[in-house]
Amino acid sequence: MKKKFYVTTAIDYVNAEPHIGHAYQKIVADILARWNKLIGNEVFFVTGTDEHGKKIKDSAQRAGIPVDKFVDKISEKFKESWDELNIHPDRFIRTTDKDHERVVKEFIKKCEKKGDIYKGTYSGLYCTGCEAYYTEKNSEDGNCPIHKKPLEEIEEESYFFKLSKYEDFLLELYKKNPGFVFPVSRRNEVVNRVKEGLKDLSISRTNFEWGIPFPLDKKHVVYVWFDALINYYTATRKKGKEKFWGKPTVHILGKDNTWFHAVYWPAMLKSAGIELPRQTINHGFLTFNGEKISKSLGNAISPKVLVKKYGADSIRYFVARHFPFATGEDGDFSEKALVDRHNNELANKLGNLVSRVSGLIEKYGVEKTSNKLIKKINEKKIEKLMENYEIDKALNEIFAFIDRCNEYVQEKKPWETKDKKVLYELKESILKISELLGPFIPESAEKIKKQFNAKKIIKGEPLFIKIESTKAGVHKVNKEEKLVGLMSVKEVEFEEWEKLDLRVAQIKEVEDILGADKLYKIILDVGELGSRTICAGLKEFYSKEKLKGKRIIYFSNLKPRKLRGIDSQGMLLAASNKERTKVSLISPDSEIELGATVG
Ligand code: ZN
Repeated sequence: MKKKFYVTTAIDYVNAEPHIGHAYQKIVADILARWNKLIGNEVFFVTGTDEHGKKIKDSAQRAGIPVDKFVDKISEKFKESWDELNIHPDRFIRTTDKDHERVVKEFIKKCEKKGDIYKGTYSGLYCTGCEAYYTEKNSEDGNCPIHKKPLEEIEEESYFFKLSKYEDFLLELYKKNPGFVFPVSRRNEVVNRVKEGLKDLSISRTNFEWGIPFPLDKKHVVYVWFDALINYYTATRKKGKEKFWGKPTVHILGKDNTWFHAVYWPAMLKSAGIELPRQTINHGFLTFNGEKISKSLGNAISPKVLVKKYGADSIRYFVARHFPFATGEDGDFSEKALVDRHNNELANKLGNLVSRVSGLIEKYGVEKTSNKLIKKINEKKIEKLMENYEIDKALNEIFAFIDRCNEYVQEKKPWETKDKKVLYELKESILKISELLGPFIPESAEKIKKQFNAKKIIKGEPLFIKIESTKAGVHKVNKEEKLVGLMSVKEVEFEEWEKLDLRVAQIKEVEDILGADKLYKIILDVGELGSRTICAGLKEFYSKEKLKGKRIIYFSNLKPRKLRGIDSQGMLLAASNKERTKVSLISPDSEIELGATVG
């Protein structure tokens, strides 16, 4: 039966650019959205950016950009990053969207009608970084425990939300619906804290203007957290999306946001007379060398850089497989672990299976038979694991089947027996694997299907068992679908890089080489190393006159290569665009003497 599934992520605060920690959560949400689509559910997936508050206004000021332009710019960067990681939400919501502003104002009016909003004075220790007040007790000697900066003593007129009124309601909620705060360890923390008593929540500010105008008082703007939480509801106020609110709604968030989602949010909804979501999933942090990844700690890792190095699939696979999402525990991110998993699992296990089998099928073809191999995969178990958000374990199960397929190739030796039935079993199994892996590594999964010319994949009950794709006979491998995502990646060891000897040199002479339309013969002065002759493909980009006298960087200890009969003794360092239509030599200042080392 078709179910509805609405998955949201925390919306990111646009005071800094995205890092891998932000990406983790969005990748998981995208995987869950794709998985639910795969098993036939009706899915709505929303992510976005949180754009109000003093911290953002201050960041814009520091950047020297008007705040509306600033939030446009950073929000766009988040969008771009998600796009590069193949994260495709149905809506990218921004808290500066007009419809959101309207919904927030209506929401507050509903709470007021209920008698839950009053005017008072707030005084306390405030951290602009967190946009939150601290008590003496949870500060670290007057410093913010997260930002390690002194807290400001602030007193202001403020509207309050009667959170204290909802203490019993909340405790009842956690009892009646134990899955509301997932996993259970987080729930227990929340229950204990709520039992200590709740204070009313200050929900408006007067010390800045960058926010949604408070609908009851023009001098105030809405507190950024009160505004942000409502985004989840806003997204479902569009025509056709209303049905996703309530039971189908699952919020994914980092454990630092648990309190807001497990306490404020259900109380706010109850006050406004709106149905509660099904669940809040509170995951752990990705750490980097044991510390929380954040811009302010200066160890942020950009998803863009990682995608460029390893491809989107590799990163998606790694974070889904490496970290125990459902336990709510932290996990340490390292590029070494990413490369290891990529090489051992994606390249060696999956990549090899696909390339071996496709090569054999190209030679010997397939013949239809009842498929015993494919029955070894336990789809029910995988589905159950995904339902419990144990995505790492689900991947484990899929890879156990990939191992089984690799063993099957070894056992049956189809390269000797030329057994077309065995190859049929393997091919169908690989197509099944590509279906199951689609939510995790969408690009590679799609390419596998194309490589095997999969015609049609028929979805059946309970999952998507039946694949009717394979015709008997020789199968032509679709060579265009290179499985780049499944090839090994190599890392350059630091020691290897150190071996390179880069020097500053100056171009003395430039000559044409007979019959070569791209190469120049170049004589270099490398200071203490004397002169060197090299051949360089610069003719399309530089005239001889432009090169003469130019200071450049030269790789001095490369093995000589013979080009057009000339011993070329090294290479020049140059930058080029992707298409290699533009090349620019790297040129050091004249203050640096010839022969100086680079590195
Ligand atoms: Zn702080």
